[in-house]
Amino acid sequence: MIIKPRFEPEELNLLRYLYRRLELSVKDENHYLNLEKGFAGELQFDRLMQEVPDDWMILNDLLLESSNTLFQIDTMLIAGATIYIFEVKNYEGDFYIENEHWYTTSKTEIKNPLLQLHRSETLLRGLLKELGFNLPIKPYLVFVNPGFQLYQAPLNLPAVFPTQLNRFIEKLKSTPAASKARYAKLAEQLIFRCLKENPFLRVPEYSYEQLREGILCTTCTSFLTPFSQGILICNECGCKEESDSAVLRSVEEFKTLFPEMKITTNGIYEWCSIISSTKVIQRILSRNYEKKGRGKSSFYVSQ
Ligand SMILES: [Zn+2]
Repeated sequence: MIIKPRFEPEELNLLRYLYRRLELSVKDENHYLNLEKGFAGELQFDRLMQEVPDDWMILNDLLLESSNTLFQIDTMLIAGATIYIFEVKNYEGDFYIENEHWYTTSKTEIKNPLLQLHRSETLLRGLLKELGFNLPIKPYLVFVNPGFQLYQAPLNLPAVFPTQLNRFIEKLKSTPAASKARYAKLAEQLIFRCLKENPFLRVPEYSYEQLREGILCTTCTSFLTPFSQGILICNECGCKEESDSAVLRSVEEFKTLFPEMKITTNGIYEWCSIISSTKVIQRILSRNYEKKGRGKSSFYVSQ
């Protein structure tokens, strides 16, 4: 059972919007594409985890603190009386390990994911102790991409490779059951301890004036153009969408990008840029948001 669902990370959301609306530096663009890939890998692993028994507890995307140090766990599974933690990697291509350092075949060194996993394990152990629990922790690196190959991996590497994933889940299922109530309390406390905001967001600086206005396609994130009365179309993928829902999405995007700015009819009209009149925008806003103030100074807030 999923106790804590996985949401799209705020950082990814912001970068997704900025990627289309702003010229990102190569560094920011790579960071964005890595996040996108990483998140897709996590979702892929989530689908596999749906198969574990229903009375096991899955906690996704935990950002916790122990000994004044933050750490993140992609997926935690409380199964029986054991805690599994999974660091999910969507690496693609050939990699090798040499003297505990990890490299791509073009000899570029990458961050050793094992160090990250062990760091999380140690910090989690400290936190569990603080909460009065003493459970064994089993950490694993999970590689989900079938196009991943790791050479010179030591046999005792706590890793699950793409071809082993199904077998691994099958084996997990044989973990003996244990008292659920006690561990439900632990899950509750861990969620309570989770930080709501990630202080390490890596998002470039931007201002409204720098961003390209318009409405993004939900499927391929290209810009939509008008098609017919009340319908917009994406010329890249052919996807059509009613302007009402497209405008509402754009309002939410605007709120994410500019949390300090007010939502006004004129502001959203300009932001969407392809809606024929402010009247349409006003109708959509007044149906879905609560209006504050009167006349020119009126604005909208979530209901
Ligand atoms: Zn599209």
